[in-house]
Amino acid sequence: MDGDGARGSALATTAPGLAWEYAPAPESRDVVSIAPEYGLFIDGEFGPAADGGTFATINPATEEPLARVAQAGPADVGRAVAAARRAYETTWRPMPGAERAKYLYRIARVLQERAREFAVLESLDNGKPIKESRDTDIPLAAAHFFYYAGWADKLEHAGFGPGPRPLGVAGQIIPWNFPLLMAAWKLAPALAAGNTCVLKPAETTPLTALLLAEVCQQAGLPPGVVNVLTGAGGTGAALAGHQGVDKIAFTGSTEVGKQIAATVAGTGKKVTLELGGKAANIIFDDAPVEAAVEGIVNGIFFNQGHVCCAGSRLLVQESAAQEVTDRLRRRLGTLRLGDPLDKNTDIGAINSRAQLDKITELSAAGQAEGADRWSPPCELPGRGFWFAPTIFTGVAQSHRIAREEIFGPVLSVLTFRTPDEAVAKANNTPYGLSAGVWTEKGSRILWLASKLRAGVVWANTYNRFDPASPFGGYTESGYGREGGRHGLAAYLDA
Ligand code: ADP
Repeated sequence: MDGDGARGSALATTAPGLAWEYAPAPESRDVVSIAPEYGLFIDGEFGPAADGGTFATINPATEEPLARVAQAGPADVGRAVAAARRAYETTWRPMPGAERAKYLYRIARVLQERAREFAVLESLDNGKPIKESRDTDIPLAAAHFFYYAGWADKLEHAGFGPGPRPLGVAGQIIPWNFPLLMAAWKLAPALAAGNTCVLKPAETTPLTALLLAEVCQQAGLPPGVVNVLTGAGGTGAALAGHQGVDKIAFTGSTEVGKQIAATVAGTGKKVTLELGGKAANIIFDDAPVEAAVEGIVNGIFFNQGHVCCAGSRLLVQESAAQEVTDRLRRRLGTLRLGDPLDKNTDIGAINSRAQLDKITELSAAGQAEGADRWSPPCELPGRGFWFAPTIFTGVAQSHRIAREEIFGPVLSVLTFRTPDEAVAKANNTPYGLSAGVWTEKGSRILWLASKLRAGVVWANTYNRFDPASPFGGYTESGYGREGGRHGLAAYLDA
């Protein structure tokens, strides 16, 4: 049942040249059943935290409580790490790669079979539009399991020398912006390489990781190979500091990434950190403008801008600046903000009140520092956490909105005249995760790609992901790569 009762009803323009009006197209919630309370997933079973602690997870679009979730403390971290160690020694490491692959393929297939359920749950817990969870998050999560399943019996041929060994127990701490997808990025390569895992989802979005734990049961994964500990920063800190963990993989803020790097320094644990970003999306005056405008919108308004590689700094060549910003404003006027479960929605809810406060504060700072703020006319729902898509023009490099990661639907527009100036401005950031280049000249793309200090450079596109392609940053954006063959290296003693 897809709740598409409005199909066939009038989709009419109010007048020539004005925006389309869309009839509501709500996705049904019926595919998902949310329990009132969830336990921790340790050693193949769900159970309460040792001290009985729980916390609420809410729907950010309505502030309605969805469920209570166990809050893992140090004793639970100890139990989960012990279970993962046992599974590593007795089952997972000795198992031939071809057998491990079968479990990963099974998880991938179940994810596909239950895709609609995962998509609805992700949108409820995270606030992202259903068309994004349905078309991006969930299919890519399944694709990661398929991709790494293919590597599990070919590690000998992956270019890491003969007999590459797994590291052991991996502690994996993930953020709230792509909850299931980040879990897949972490689990799939770790498991393919023969490691066992203790996964800590973000406190505002635990539900799809818990459903994934159920999928692990459904796929018959041996107990202890994957453990899921829900909780807040303290749970993550306890996991990062646990001496039984051989590897920490973290995606989140640069601030917490630095704390984790300090915690594990000198312990011999391997670490990968995927942290913040402040990417430049560079538009030359020979770029195809319509496509570039779509790329700009996709770069910063996809997932409400809750994307570490978001194209949050638009660098546009001065000669094209007026045309690009005019068209961008027109395009923003057609974006639909509202119910994340409506299939027409382009912009969903901000994930939490804390994040909304941060976006609000930084946007106010942009105005106070003298940049020009603009949003399309846009009615925000009365409840929940919402922020209208926003563009700042007249931004200087020294402004906070040009330097700090906003992690929201806010674009800072700067201009440049020459390619050298574009490179200098793009690289003038403590981060280095991603960048975009829009031009019709292939030679210019290659020249820029070699000059930009960013882990990923997209050319005439933006926010494209593929499990076969490595992803990761420079400097304050972290170190290590996820995805592709490179992503295996992070989980092998090679
Ligand atoms: P964001 O800004 O994306 O919320 P955070 O870095 O705060 O990013 O959170 C990312 C993940 O790190 C979450 O799962 C969170 O609970 C966890 N976390 C927060 N603080 C710590 C900490 N001190 N040590 C380990 N993990 C933490």
